[in-house]
Parts: sequence; structure tokens; C-alpha cells
Amino acid sequence: KKYVVVTGGVISGIGKGILSASIARVMKECGVEVNTLKIDPYLNLDAGTMNPNQHGEVFVTEDGYEADLDLGHYERFLGKNMRRENNMTAGQVFKSIIDKERKGDFLGATVQMVPHVTDEIKSRIRKVPGDLIMIEIGGTVGDIEGEIFLEAVRELWVEEGPENFLFIHVTYVPYLRVTNEFKTKPTQQSVQLLRRIGIQPQMIVVRSELPIEENELGKIALFGGVERQMVYNLPDSENVYDVPRIVYSHGIHRKIASWLNIEIEERFEWNY
Ligand code: ADP
Repeated sequence: KKYVVVTGGVISGIGKGILSASIARVMKECGVEVNTLKIDPYLNLDAGTMNPNQHGEVFVTEDGYEADLDLGHYERFLGKNMRRENNMTAGQVFKSIIDKERKGDFLGATVQMVPHVTDEIKSRIRKVPGDLIMIEIGGTVGDIEGEIFLEAVRELWVEEGPENFLFIHVTYVPYLRVTNEFKTKPTQQSVQLLRRIGIQPQMIVVRSELPIEENELGKIALFGGVERQMVYNLPDSENVYDVPRIVYSHGIHRKIASWLNIEIEERFEWNY
């Protein structure tokens, strides 16, 4: 089984969901049995009780689960019905740990974040069916709530083998109009935050309002410790449904397939 883990840096709402869904779609077109897992570090059990004004659409899956809008993106982009197993929240993880503790399942052990909570997260990730699992970790690197999930995927990376994992870090590069320059420092710092917890991304996707120049992308590769050819710029698109095509035209799927050593077939017509 292969895993692609998508993390975000600098600011929230930069398009991790759209990018993950787009990559999943291209991989599906290439004949890969792909599935997705959205991890939400919030403590709600699901998005059903959350104010839509604050959190956007509540997306109801075919098995009656109330998820957040990212599962809607996945369903629409992938053309595949999402289910309860495609979403994990911190609330679900902690509830299950506390229920197990009350039942005595831990046999007198002191129940701890590591290893009990991380084990619970890893076992839920392993249960998602499919050959390639796109895991999107909600929020931004550096958030307190997200830390335990990052630690769990880091452990999974060790246990399943680095050859089965690709970490993609999505960041934002702001453009300063007054000085007419792009600023890459927040991106460099967010990669450093990831590295500090033991995760070195293999690919960086830089979101921006306008296309970024080569010089800046080279700087991000150098300071982020990522090959230049693994740094991509994804400026704002007019229409988010164009993003799979853009991912395809950049050949991002080929880099992922080659890193993970998976066979892909590109014999398809781009028909939507
Ligand atoms: P995140 O998962 O990082 O919170 P989302 O993927 O939900 O972010 O994207 C947030 C919003 O930003 C989306 O609703 C979409 O409208 C917009 N967006 C995302 N990616 C792009 C893009 N490449 N071009 C233009 N708009 C985008």
C-alpha cells in the first residue's frame, strides 16, 4: 500500500483539499485504485454540529455521515461516493480511546498520547481500503491540534517504509505589490517546522495569486531541501475544476508514481 500525505503551511484554506482531490482524480484516470482520507484535527465527532457560517457546507455521505466540505470536493472530483471511513476527526480518536479505557481494554496501562493515541490513528489509517491513499491533514503545520496526527504519520512512514510514502507540503507565497516581489520566507519557515518534527517533504506545491518566477522556486527548493523538479507553482485558477488538468499538464502524477514506484497508464482522454 502506498500513501501520499498532504500537509499545509503558512495559512489555512490554501487549497490542500482541491490539490489532493485533483491528484486523486488524475491517479484514478491513470488506472490506480485510489482512495482518500481527510483528517480533521478538531474535537467535534463530525461536522454535523458545526455552524455552516463558520465552517462551510456540511457534506452528508451515502452512509449518513456528516462530514466537512472537503469530502464534497473529493466526491465531485473523484466521481466516487465518500463514506464514513474517508474522514477522521480528533474527536472520534479520543472518544474511542476513552471508551476503550473505560472498558478496561488497556489492561491497566497508563493511557498516553504516544503510543495509545498514535496507535489508534495509525490503525484507522491502515483500515482505509485502496492501493494509493491520499491523506490530507487539515489545518496548518505548527497547530497544536495537528501535532499528534503528524507524529502518527511520521511513525507510519517508519513502519511502512519510506519507499511507500510521499509527503507533499502545500504553502503560500505572498506577493508584495509595493516592492514588487514574492516572499518565500514563510514557506521556508513552515518547511523547517515540518522537519523539526521529523518529516522532510519530497514535494512542495506553492500556491500564489500570480505565477511565481523561477528564481523564487529555486530558493524554495534549496532551503526546503527538495529537488527543484519537485517544486511546483499553482497560481489561483479561474475555476477549481481546472486544477486536475493543471496537475496533469505539470506531470505531478508522474513524479508521484515514479517516487512511489507505481505503474500508471496514461491512455485516457481528458473528457470533462
Ligand atoms: P484547504 O483544504 O487548504 O483548507 P481548500 O482546498 O478547501 O483549502 O480550498 C479553499 C478554497 O480555495 C476552495 O474553496 C477554492 O475555492 C479555493 N482554491 C483552492 N485551490 C485553488 C486554486 N488552485 N485556484 C483557485 N482557487 C483555489
